[in-house]
Amino acid sequence: AIEVTARSDSSPGVGASPTNLVFEELMKIDIFGLTIEALTEALASKGLKKFRAKQVFQWLYQKSVFDFAAMHNLSKADIALLEEHFTVLPRQITILREQNSSDGMTSKLLLGLPDGNSVETVLMHHDYGYSVCVSSQVGCDMHCAFCASGLKGAVRNLTAPEIIARVYLFNERLRQRNGQASLKEAQQTQQAGAIKQDKQDKQSRPDMVSRVVVMGSGEPMLNFDAVLGALDFLHREDTCFMSYRNMTISTCGIIPGIKRLEEQGKRINRAVSLHAVRSDLRTSLMPVNKGFPFVDVIAAAEAYSQAGGRQVTYEYILLKDKNDSVQDAELLSNYLRYKHASVNLIPANPVPEQGFERPSKAAIERFVKILQKNRISATVRKEMGKDIDAACGQLRAKFAKEQEQK
Ligand code: SAH
Repeated sequence: AIEVTARSDSSPGVGASPTNLVFEELMKIDIFGLTIEALTEALASKGLKKFRAKQVFQWLYQKSVFDFAAMHNLSKADIALLEEHFTVLPRQITILREQNSSDGMTSKLLLGLPDGNSVETVLMHHDYGYSVCVSSQVGCDMHCAFCASGLKGAVRNLTAPEIIARVYLFNERLRQRNGQASLKEAQQTQQAGAIKQDKQDKQSRPDMVSRVVVMGSGEPMLNFDAVLGALDFLHREDTCFMSYRNMTISTCGIIPGIKRLEEQGKRINRAVSLHAVRSDLRTSLMPVNKGFPFVDVIAAAEAYSQAGGRQVTYEYILLKDKNDSVQDAELLSNYLRYKHASVNLIPANPVPEQGFERPSKAAIERFVKILQKNRISATVRKEMGKDIDAACGQLRAKFAKEQEQK
């Protein structure tokens, strides 16, 4: 409101002064993430017909096209109206940094949000498709000792459209990349005079992200409605059509959140960041353990698993000489024995600020062998993106530090 007064004072009624342009931009409504009903209403308020909303919706969420001008089945007049009154969040986001791992399988983007905050998003290419790791908050208040996200605390919750937009920014890239690839392929095939068979499985939407893991910065259970809202949106048949089974929410152990998710009755995968199975150690690594002791967290997660039939994944960062002993592996096995659970061991990505180290290969193998001997299903996380600061909050922290030094 302050901005508005200052601007109208300085340039009353002038059409295209720079200040008025900013003002007009501020007055626009962002339509990204609106349901089809809400979108229809928003467009109708500016005189656009109902079928236009349907077309715009398809462009946005099935074709990952965010520029009104590129929506070529709209009339010029309607495009002008849309541009005059609305914005589309993915176009308001700037890419501050981009890092691609040397094997080409992982990309990390540092995105600048319209309010000046920045968030990270990681795209991982697996043999079964593309998955995106999104954060749920700007920063984090959990203050886990080994994590870079919480170095400066939480700034704010992300909104559902902000979470959805990150998935769609990658969808847009995949569309552009695959579009070019298939054009090239078609040209080559044509040259060879061969007949190309269309083997595309329409169900799988190969040019779209097929999995989302809410494992980026922030604690998703402290931003429950926005996270669930975003996942529900991606689940819709007229958007990504992503199954809940392809979604995972990770928590440091906020028990009321685990219970609330259970009440929803959706078969979303649950991951729990455990990281230690001795109370004093876990409290020193993860202060949340004081309020929600890990034994209770495991019980809540097991109840979630029983209710929905989904296995719980326990994440366990291996920190040299802290939680990687034989005794720790045996204790962990004891807690998880006979549970519908698996362990994802994460050799720590060292965060220089905190002085944690990664255990030796031998120590990691020893830990895995003990779990296996005890029949606990365990995997060691593939080191995707180690060369691109892909652990939580690392790129954002590095960027902030660079900005400070400037
Ligand atoms: N707050 C939620 C989700 C975000 S954390 C949670 O705690 O589960 C996502 C995962 O990355 C967590 O398991 C977290 O412990 C892990 N992580 C954080 N810092 C890391 C580091 N330096 N190396 C490896 N994993 C890290």
